[in-house]
Amino acid sequence: MSRGHALEEKDKKYVWHPFTQMRDWERDEVVVIRSARGCVLEDTRGRRYLDGVSSLWVNIHGHRKKEIDRAIRFQLDRVAHSTLLGLASMPSIALAEELVRLAPRGLEKVFYSDNGSTGVEVALKLSFQYWQHKGGKHRRRRMFIRLRNGYHGDTIGAVSVGGIGLFHDTYRPLLFPTIEGPSFYCYRCDFGKEPASCASECLVSLEAIMRRHRSRVAALIIEPVVQAAGGMIVAPAGHLAAIGTLCRKYGILLIADEVAVGCGRTGTMFACEHEGVSPDILVISKGLTGGYLPLAATLTTREVYDAFRAPYRMKKTFFHGHSYTGNALACAAAIASLGVFRKERVLERLPPKIRLFSRLLERLKRLPHVGDVRQKGFMVGIELVRSPRTREPYAFGTRMGHRVCMRARKHGLLIRPLGDVIVLMPPLSMSGAQLKRMIDVVYRCIREETG
Ligand SMILES: *Cc1c(COP(=O)(O)O)cnc(C)c1O
Repeated sequence: MSRGHALEEKDKKYVWHPFTQMRDWERDEVVVIRSARGCVLEDTRGRRYLDGVSSLWVNIHGHRKKEIDRAIRFQLDRVAHSTLLGLASMPSIALAEELVRLAPRGLEKVFYSDNGSTGVEVALKLSFQYWQHKGGKHRRRRMFIRLRNGYHGDTIGAVSVGGIGLFHDTYRPLLFPTIEGPSFYCYRCDFGKEPASCASECLVSLEAIMRRHRSRVAALIIEPVVQAAGGMIVAPAGHLAAIGTLCRKYGILLIADEVAVGCGRTGTMFACEHEGVSPDILVISKGLTGGYLPLAATLTTREVYDAFRAPYRMKKTFFHGHSYTGNALACAAAIASLGVFRKERVLERLPPKIRLFSRLLERLKRLPHVGDVRQKGFMVGIELVRSPRTREPYAFGTRMGHRVCMRARKHGLLIRPLGDVIVLMPPLSMSGAQLKRMIDVVYRCIREETG
């Protein structure tokens, strides 16, 4: 028995995988990753794969990036971790300064945590407590507006503001009540409109919700520009800016969850930059360390920060933190990743590659079962449908997205779908030739599987 095979059996015996029906997992072949370089992962059988989803949306500059490897080793020779409870640490200071410099105007304070979900929990608690500290009639502002198809993580607070039925409905009895607003899913518009006939009914509806609940709402949470886990749903131009304006108008805090879209993924460092929006709270995580280590940052304004500043006896302290808050190795990796952005002018050099990506995707639109192709920068969703004319989806159990992705593995491409939406989210460092190879495989696999 090969070593690869023995590992596969042990995995099936001991490891419970995330977002995975283990009954299927136990039956299928397991790919065990051994090493990686750049945008290529290698398994224990020596087979190589393109990393088409950036190891689940986290990797930015490729694997084993020299600068990040070196920064982590350098930090390891000093200290791996020391607490931020009652102490400061060198990398967490340097990173906070850099993030404030890069972030949209007005975001001046950085609160660290460990992953996207905890970063969102921090945002929810901060915005709720902000109004409690303001006092008086503001204390009635306890609710959150969330959008249909939104995703903000898997902890209970983050699930409470989630809007994906398949993932979230089971837990409703455990969740705090929220107010649901419309998505911006133009391909399947809640209001039955097409872009040509649209009068921004979703924004009109959202404003009506804000007006009705204004005195009870603490914050609105949104994935700016792209609802990622909801199916790579790209907002029409101007949508985010309009929501920003509405939040100001009704005095509702705006929480921008940039966990998926941040760190250059949409072509700008933060997605809010596309529409000049400055949120009250911004969360980043996935790409923050270049895809090396778990780390999140929740940024906020001086206004929010100041509401918590008071004599200790007034109990306005933010009583929240994690064992590994501001971990030194993770912060060192993040500083190094931002350094690569600067040194290699990653964002400045991205537009031609994004245009190439768009051109390559054109070909997919001609496949008979491709209903919609959505792209923002290096985030792509290809929605497969049973009938493109009626937009009728495949029956739930068909798992067409999954089948296409499993087939892609045989051709050396690792991708993972969201239902029947094929997701392509390569590292920003993926070369033009690799992008082309990736799309060739996707084209072929969709054609063969849906044909
Ligand atoms: C992935 C994701 C999260 C949750 O991050 P984790 O690190 O998986 O907890 C939150 N918000 C968005 C938009 C995400 O894509």
